[in-house]
Amino acid sequence: MNASPERADVVVVGAGIAGLSAAWELRDRDVVVLEATDRVGGRMMSEPRDPYWLNFGGHVVGGVDTATGRLLAATGVEAVELPGELAGLFLNGRLLAGGRVETFPLRAPLSTADRIALIRAGARVRLAVVRYGRATTRRAGESDASWRARVLAYRDDVTFADFLGRVPPDVDAIFRATIRRSSGEPEQVSAGYGIGYFQLVWDRSRGLTRNIAGGSAKLPQAIARTLGGRVHTRAPVRVVRQDADGVTVSFEREGREHTVHARAAVVAAQAYAAREVIADLPDDVSRALGSITYGSYVVGSFLTGEHSPMPYDDLYALATPNASFNMLFNTANALRRGGPRAPGGSLMVYSAAALAEELAGNSDAEVEERYLDDLYAMFPALRGNVREVAIHRWRDGVPHPRPGRHLAQPPLERPVGRVRLAGDYLGTTYIDTAVATGTAAAHAIRAELER
Ligand SMILES: Cc1cc2nc3c(=O)[nH]c(=O)nc-3n(C[C@H](O)[C@H](O)[C@H](O)COP(=O)(O)OP(=O)(O)OC[C@H]3O[C@@H](n4cnc5c(N)ncnc54)[C@H](O)[C@@H]3O)c2cc1C
Repeated sequence: MNASPERADVVVVGAGIAGLSAAWELRDRDVVVLEATDRVGGRMMSEPRDPYWLNFGGHVVGGVDTATGRLLAATGVEAVELPGELAGLFLNGRLLAGGRVETFPLRAPLSTADRIALIRAGARVRLAVVRYGRATTRRAGESDASWRARVLAYRDDVTFADFLGRVPPDVDAIFRATIRRSSGEPEQVSAGYGIGYFQLVWDRSRGLTRNIAGGSAKLPQAIARTLGGRVHTRAPVRVVRQDADGVTVSFEREGREHTVHARAAVVAAQAYAAREVIADLPDDVSRALGSITYGSYVVGSFLTGEHSPMPYDDLYALATPNASFNMLFNTANALRRGGPRAPGGSLMVYSAAALAEELAGNSDAEVEERYLDDLYAMFPALRGNVREVAIHRWRDGVPHPRPGRHLAQPPLERPVGRVRLAGDYLGTTYIDTAVATGTAAAHAIRAELER
């Protein structure tokens, strides 16, 4: 166990990917990372099961020209392009994958009236995705912060459900399964945010198309290895206080209170946790942090032992309306890149938003049973081939913007004295927002330290 530090240039609160991105950027300085839990990575969480891995949190990442892509390249952590379908659909007993999503309404097992309603609603969302793409493209010379603010403001006046209008139950279920990926219900999330999610899923050139080889935890773990003894787990921060000389951070370790003095701090904890630990927050920042809404997830991760091809081998992501989970991911797809198919595999499913809340009263064993029932109904070949099941619950899985969210942005992007905020809640691109804001906080602090 490392001795508790008493002085540092910079303290980073939280060893999720936002905090670790900041610490990575400042690795040549005297930086200390304090993490409340017993592991690094926060919501990037996976466990190796050679050659596969079980995944529990964030998993798909953007391309080489994103903040995450640059961090992966700098740290030497390998990401692989997913060969499989990213927008599959399992509806009423039929697997729809391959071909353009515009053809799904013609192939889906729906009544004629529902088919027409799906074509209409689908056209509406596709047109909105095109407009969203145009409106949210980065402008030449635009800063990340002003781009984030512009994306958050796009169609932030109504909910996605208001935008979509009334649709029949099966059509509603199809859109709802994808919107729930973002942790909210269509009646909760902003229209622009919901439309943006369809862009992520439908537009391969701009979306999330890569996996970290070996599991997403490899990236935070690689950064923590480089930082070595400067990362302290089981060290919950209680208060970050500022004075004329810098910041004083009080944290707990092995039942005792410690303090570390630093010239600046990056608070990279979730919005509600940041609000709790930073002393004397200006009212507008406190209100803005308090207004960030998170949705929950129940995740099931499965290690399988089949010896022959499975119907989902060629796909990565499958929306599953009308099941106990709304999404299924074939984690092993990252390894299905030609050559003989290795035996076994790994799957992840999750129930998000209202689906997760419905499962809150169920034990893990009950959730496992429901998940397996639905999985066997979808893919009978799985029966007898599940070797391991792990259930993980995230109470605050992902932040989702609700109408009016963009109004909270200006105070969140402003430095709070010598404290900078970082985390996924500052934007709409999840891991990439976390990496971008952590890195930006580190750059700003470095400039101040060198002044
Ligand atoms: C099921 C699921 C699937 C997802 N899928 C994707 C995906 O495919 N692609 C994608 O881009 N994103 C995805 N995400 C979202 C992604 O995982 C997050 O956006 C990202 O990991 C958030 O990183 P962060 O550093 O901002 O926050 P976190 O990872 O939450 O890190 C914050 C850290 O701060 C620590 N902390 C809090 N309070 C204190 C304190 N007082 N003292 C010390 N430490 C503290 C916490 O313990 C935590 O480790 C998914 C999330 C979930 C739950």
